[in-house]
Amino acid sequence: MQLDQASTEQLREWESALSAEYEQYQAADLSLDLTRGKPSGEQLSLSDSILDVLGNDLGNDGNIDLRNYGGLDGISECKRLFAPVLGVAEDEILIGGNSSLTLMYFAVLFASQMGFGDLGPAWKSGGKPVKFLCPVPGYDRHFAVCEHLGIDMIPVAMNDDGPDMDQVEALVKADTSIKGIWCVPRFSNPTGIVYSDAVVERIAKLATVAGNNFRVFWDNAYAVHSLSDSAPQLASLMAAAKQAGTADSVYLFGSTSKITYAGAGVAFVGMSAANLKAFSKHLGMTQIGPDKINQLRHVRLLKDSDGLTKHMRQHADVLKPRFDIVLKHLKDGIGDSGLLSWTAPEGGYFISVDTLPGLAKQVVAMAADAGVKLTPAGATFPYGKDPEDRNIRIAPSVPSLEEIDRAMQVFVNCVKLASVRQRLA
Ligand code: PLP
Repeated sequence: MQLDQASTEQLREWESALSAEYEQYQAADLSLDLTRGKPSGEQLSLSDSILDVLGNDLGNDGNIDLRNYGGLDGISECKRLFAPVLGVAEDEILIGGNSSLTLMYFAVLFASQMGFGDLGPAWKSGGKPVKFLCPVPGYDRHFAVCEHLGIDMIPVAMNDDGPDMDQVEALVKADTSIKGIWCVPRFSNPTGIVYSDAVVERIAKLATVAGNNFRVFWDNAYAVHSLSDSAPQLASLMAAAKQAGTADSVYLFGSTSKITYAGAGVAFVGMSAANLKAFSKHLGMTQIGPDKINQLRHVRLLKDSDGLTKHMRQHADVLKPRFDIVLKHLKDGIGDSGLLSWTAPEGGYFISVDTLPGLAKQVVAMAADAGVKLTPAGATFPYGKDPEDRNIRIAPSVPSLEEIDRAMQVFVNCVKLASVRQRLA
């Protein structure tokens, strides 16, 4: 289907056939959902032995009574397990509670309101709001944190190898009120791209060209979430930052939300030892210590890096066929017609698609009307505004293979029908 070469008559024929198909979907009373970037029941079950793995043996490296308060920075065997996930040393990681988003929120809050100890005062911008760079499309909750804390957001373009670094560097050089950048560096939410070594190196050097107290928020939520063993690796930001003399400018985050149980896992943050000290001082105002028993459970379940890799292969076995179905429908149904472009991620939880300009909202609305729920168009942009109204995030982890198959038939039909109608109009 090549719209730009089609006659009006041909377009009308397509419109009528696609409408008839669409009406059949509407009549079928479907209830399908491609919105939720969370693990399926099948994935959660992979970790069920975590419930029994402790028995009543709470023995641990530090001989700590894990049932009691304390240990704000987490237990040492858990640091040993997760420090390599972030690419930091064991004395550069804090293991917290169940949510990395909480740690990110606190990091932005502490930096903006209180500063990080001797490393820098609170962000100031002559009474005006400070700003963050937001590679787009991106993760809506990052944008929500900024909005909640009164931080202005500047979208920057995302390429196949990470944010457009020429644009990023030019912006931070020109405006010292830009104090941060959000990054999801491996299997980015939602495009699934992995930052190249060259991009990691340039990000590590940003603090040398930005204003005072510039910080990189490195949300490595999908650090070990590859769909195959051949997926691209990510260079260590901390190593590059040490090389560049900017180790204090990077904060790295991760969690087991999509490794074990979402909402009942452990989260962690990697920082220079000096930053960690300052961060812990603030964090200590909010809690006396994390759930160390859950931390030990995670170590007993996953054991070490090899154990973690094996565990994640089981997740990949569940996820990969789901990604494959989505991609097969896009390839067979849309192909090289130019009606849609999409990413084919090698890991993570999402596939990102771009419709023709001005159609994303309409496609999402049409799909909803035919019983297929999609993430609202615009959600992947700051303030919910996709200037070209093109991007849609597809999350295939939760529905069954049959449900994805059906939902993608509807989706492809909606994309084609909306595109033909736009052309006719
Ligand atoms: N960061 C990204 C990029 C995510 O996609 C998600 C969840 O979808 C999170 C963070 C949430 O992480 P947590 O459950 O550790 O708060």
